[in-house]
Amino acid sequence: MHDDRDLVEARLKRVLDERIRPAIYPESVPLEVAVWHAPGEPVPVAEGLAAEPGPIAVGQAWGAPWGTSWFTVTGTVPMEWSGRIVEAILDLGFDENMPGFQCEGLVYRPDGTPVKGLNPRNQWVRVGSPAEGGERVRLHVEAASNPVILDYHPFLPTRMGDKETAGTDPLYRLARMDLAVFDQTVWELVMDLEVLGELMLELPVDGARRWELLRALERALDAVDLQDVGGTAAAARAELTGVLSSPAVPSAHRISAVGHAHIDSAWLWPLRETVRKVARTTSNMTALLEDEPDFVFAMSQAQQWAWVKEHRPEVWAKVTKAVAAGRFVPAGGMWVESDTNMPGSEAMARQFVHGKRFFIDEFGVDNEEVWLPDTFGFAAGLPQIIKAAGAKRLLTQKISWSQTNRFPHHTFLWEGIDGTRIFTHFPPVDTYNCSMRGRELAHAARNFKDKGVARHSLAPTGWGDGGGGTTREMVAKAARVRDLEGSPKVAWETPAEFFAKAEAEYPHPPVWVGELYLELHRGTLTSQAKTKQGNRRSEALLREAELWSATAAVRAGVDYPYERLDRIWKTVLLHQFHDILPGSSIAWVHREARRTYELVAEELNAIIGDAQDALAAGQATGLCFNGSPHARLGVPAGGAASARVRPATCTERAGGGYVLEGPLLRAEIDARGLVVSLRDLETGREAVAPGRAANLLQLHPDFPNKWDAWDVDAFYRNTVTDLTEADRVISDGGRVEIRRSFGSSTVTQWISLDEGRLDIETEVDWHETEKILKLAFPLDVRADRYASESQYGHVFRPTHTNTSWEAAKFEACNHRFVHVEEPGWGVALVTDSTYGHDVTRDVDGTGTTTTLRASLLRAPRFPDPETDQGVHRFRHGLVPNASIGDAVREGYFVNQPVRAGSGAAEVVEPLVAVDDDAVVVSAVKLADDRSGDVIVRCYESRGGRARATLRAGFPVAEVVTTDLLERPTGEPQRPGDGIPVTLRPFELVTLRMKRA
Ligand SMILES: [Zn+2]
Repeated sequence: MHDDRDLVEARLKRVLDERIRPAIYPESVPLEVAVWHAPGEPVPVAEGLAAEPGPIAVGQAWGAPWGTSWFTVTGTVPMEWSGRIVEAILDLGFDENMPGFQCEGLVYRPDGTPVKGLNPRNQWVRVGSPAEGGERVRLHVEAASNPVILDYHPFLPTRMGDKETAGTDPLYRLARMDLAVFDQTVWELVMDLEVLGELMLELPVDGARRWELLRALERALDAVDLQDVGGTAAAARAELTGVLSSPAVPSAHRISAVGHAHIDSAWLWPLRETVRKVARTTSNMTALLEDEPDFVFAMSQAQQWAWVKEHRPEVWAKVTKAVAAGRFVPAGGMWVESDTNMPGSEAMARQFVHGKRFFIDEFGVDNEEVWLPDTFGFAAGLPQIIKAAGAKRLLTQKISWSQTNRFPHHTFLWEGIDGTRIFTHFPPVDTYNCSMRGRELAHAARNFKDKGVARHSLAPTGWGDGGGGTTREMVAKAARVRDLEGSPKVAWETPAEFFAKAEAEYPHPPVWVGELYLELHRGTLTSQAKTKQGNRRSEALLREAELWSATAAVRAGVDYPYERLDRIWKTVLLHQFHDILPGSSIAWVHREARRTYELVAEELNAIIGDAQDALAAGQATGLCFNGSPHARLGVPAGGAASARVRPATCTERAGGGYVLEGPLLRAEIDARGLVVSLRDLETGREAVAPGRAANLLQLHPDFPNKWDAWDVDAFYRNTVTDLTEADRVISDGGRVEIRRSFGSSTVTQWISLDEGRLDIETEVDWHETEKILKLAFPLDVRADRYASESQYGHVFRPTHTNTSWEAAKFEACNHRFVHVEEPGWGVALVTDSTYGHDVTRDVDGTGTTTTLRASLLRAPRFPDPETDQGVHRFRHGLVPNASIGDAVREGYFVNQPVRAGSGAAEVVEPLVAVDDDAVVVSAVKLADDRSGDVIVRCYESRGGRARATLRAGFPVAEVVTTDLLERPTGEPQRPGDGIPVTLRPFELVTLRMKRA
């Protein structure tokens, strides 16, 4: 037979595009349209409905950037359409390729009931089914003219990312506002042709099935009368029933389709817009659930559920009904889909506490699946936190974005720093926005790395990022590939149903140990420094606010601020969303975040002040509160006393510069303001590498190929400028001040000694573009690996680049410290706010040098063209002769400095004390259930075994271990003289103490 494959395939495409799809709506009449443009920010629904609209016609421009326009459409269903399905087609001027990234709408009935959302792939509203004819139609559309930020030519700097700079020129042109007849049979034919045509293109050309599909499609096209598509569609469909009913082969890959709309809680839109995005998507999904009995939809991020509850009660009622039916599924159990690299230990835990508690309180749902499809890498402390929250499974697909290495598994056990293993699945479809296209399904089956031993994968299905969700077309396609020869078998299932099957078929999956490092988006550890500092400061203040409030409640009977702390925690957790804390949102989001963090700090400082005043009882002075988990300057951890400060001296250095000397350290700062020597006086050992200088600021060009705020590409290192010239180096007798200028920026540093730590405060007035600023510390230490603090412990990474996996980790995350050591002697670099860092090695005649560099600032121009412009302050400390334990302790100290208080009390005894410094108390608080019980969480911080005794500074009736949600996990014990705590490496434990 002659090979006419190309001819028939091309025919299918043209006939579908130009004749059959247009015949879905064979007849239409225009609707009358009027519009009211809300003058500022979005208004309540009642106000939008009540406003007096003015004229607008199809074809006219509308929509200033970030504006809201209320369209009213009215019309009458023609009498001759009686008995036919009628839909309103409302095209606000969509570009069909970018659902969620442009204008959107929510349709309401005149009584204010939301009907469904409008987006480029969902422009229809069912009017009658079937219509009577003569019906009056009146609908209202709350349309948001959100600008396109990530355009077809992406990553160009734009001022559209903030309402304050976006201008007022209208962005959209009203395209179509019609009532139309919907021809169900033609639409079904389109679905048949798309599914079979897409499947055909994925099949091998030398296989019989491909040709069977080709011939069947050809017969179907022959059956269509192009002048009467509606009249011949049924005959065309009949030609396809044979190939559509041929079942899948027994070994076919199984795909659990989970209806989904990934909705970024803020990104290329502000937080307030996400509230509306969630309303639009949930309206659509509850409507689709009503129409499609097999369909299942999962939504993560308790915060987004809470927004629906607060802002759209009618939608919430539909959602709760669908949840009760098991078809609208709460997924994930976190407050938001947060970043997992940067959130501190307690914050990561609270993401689960608040997320799970919301789903439990609202629906009685305590799910075991963690849903993080889009987060930029996964810290190795996470498995233990997931388990402690009562979950046991993780889903993400983001590691498929890695630039260098292909991850070897799609289903595996992920082992964290403490040995906890979590059953983990990476959907091989490689997207969280699957749309049921043949190419996606075939890719999932081909790509699946665990073939032969496993057969199931999950496909999150629906438009995402900016929301939208699943469409009726996706549901129709899924129905056709339920059991179809040549295709994977697809069924709508909940995440839990998928995981149960995946676990059952794969009892001994492979194990991946340590972090799931994303080999991309490394710049997110540094971009938007103030957002990151706001997070770190808020976490530290929350720790203190809980500690001192609990102490004041137990000791002084002061009311514990449950509601305020709950609200502040949720605010801080929201801002850990995977485009806010990472610094990858538009200017508007980060401008608001800076202000929010200021308010959070103000309120937390007030809470801390009130508690400390109650504890200090009076007006005398000299009392210092130590909120860190280790004793400091004679002040016990979690207590207050007068501090014993041992001052350092500052003298002039021969040859220029200054010498700082204290009881433990001696530092030499040369005339350039660089630290040329840092000697540990106990051992006499020098920390700075021979011939090198620490506290060296280094400036690199930083213009990645894509994703400006997200990525720092490896080639940034090829060019570097050392900022060694100082405008001045002076001393006030206690500390050394250095001032430099470079480019359009200036930097001032203050160097001082604080017990065993060289303290460096850096203030940068930053006015560079597309540069990265690093603070370097070349150390006389030879080490193959170094430690970075992570949640409830630390991770080791290599200092070398033997393999592509190691080379790819050229920028990584730390919390409060990085630490490098030779046996018995190490150095820690601690920080109060930076996360990004790199560690490299160098060998010369004198041995191996290990260089630690903190990343201070970047200056990408997309999506915020003014990223990080202005004044920033950072604090770093270099600690020679530091063990990991010293690094943990000093890391806490720079983040939780001792607070001077005033009061008559000479000392305030800690509420809890532990007799082993390896056991760190990470939280002291009152129980969330308001029983008055004291909750103490602690962990082994050094990677070893610990046996410690915890002593409560109040009478304890009984103590019980709990999970993160403070639910008992063991039997209550009556404590004797102290509570024994035995911990494995990095193990965390939560104790609940009932007060006697
Ligand atoms: Zn996302």
